[in-house]
Amino acid sequence: MQKFSYHTHTVFSDGHNNVKEMIERAERLGWEEMGISDHLIVHKNIPQSRSFPRWQSSAGNHVYKTDFAKAADEFCRHAEEIGKIARGRNIKVRVGAEVDYFTYDGWTDEFACFRRKTELDYYISGNHFLQPSDGEILDIKDLPLLSGEERNRALKNHFDSICRAIESKIFSFIAHIDYIRKSPFCPDDAFQTEKMRVIEYLKKYQTATELSTKGLRKRGDFYPADRLAGEIIKNNIPLVISDDAHRISELGFAFDEAENYLQAHQCRNRWSFEK
Ligand SMILES: [Zn+2]
Ligand SMILES: [Zn+2]
Repeated sequence: MQKFSYHTHTVFSDGHNNVKEMIERAERLGWEEMGISDHLIVHKNIPQSRSFPRWQSSAGNHVYKTDFAKAADEFCRHAEEIGKIARGRNIKVRVGAEVDYFTYDGWTDEFACFRRKTELDYYISGNHFLQPSDGEILDIKDLPLLSGEERNRALKNHFDSICRAIESKIFSFIAHIDYIRKSPFCPDDAFQTEKMRVIEYLKKYQTATELSTKGLRKRGDFYPADRLAGEIIKNNIPLVISDDAHRISELGFAFDEAENYLQAHQCRNRWSFEK
């Protein structure tokens, strides 16, 4: 059974437990390693997003940012704190970030600068927003505000931004590739062409993706949905199990069920960092 998770959050972003609590729980689970991947969400126009005030007002959170320089300072301090807490323990703790990959002009250069400054151990990509047009940002639950045609374009752009993230080769793995299924405008049988393109990119760039048990907690099945997970396995794309834990009780959540699923589907390409 997989005894690690590289996709976890702390109070540094939107998690509910601090770094020490998360690491100590992982130790108690008998894990030899874990990764802390708090959100890195930087977009020049993020104050346009309707969820911005909510994150802006909660004290001390580091979730939504308009500039990378401030985010880099905060992540440097965060990484230092994790390093201190992890020192001398029997568990190896990696410091990463779950990154919303935006495609407007200049974003990738600023992100490159962030990576040079912070030297985090790894990045995972997880897109939680829509980019209806260049430089625009929209919460998924605001899709009904768009016209049919705009909606269609925004959803196509969403899958396209995942492909851009894959081809950037920056990310150790791609999180929840069908996160968008939480919107009623993007049910599992929709946008098959776009979803298959994501699969093609994962295959072409030999980039890993996750089987996330967060879906089990939120809606009763995994991210990605059965059909897409089947395509991933059929194409022998490397897979890692994730809990996307936002609190200690979610660390390793339903990993036995995820193991059984992968075994039943004869998944032979499991991904992890080299030991
Ligand atoms: Zn996510
Ligand atoms: Zn996450």
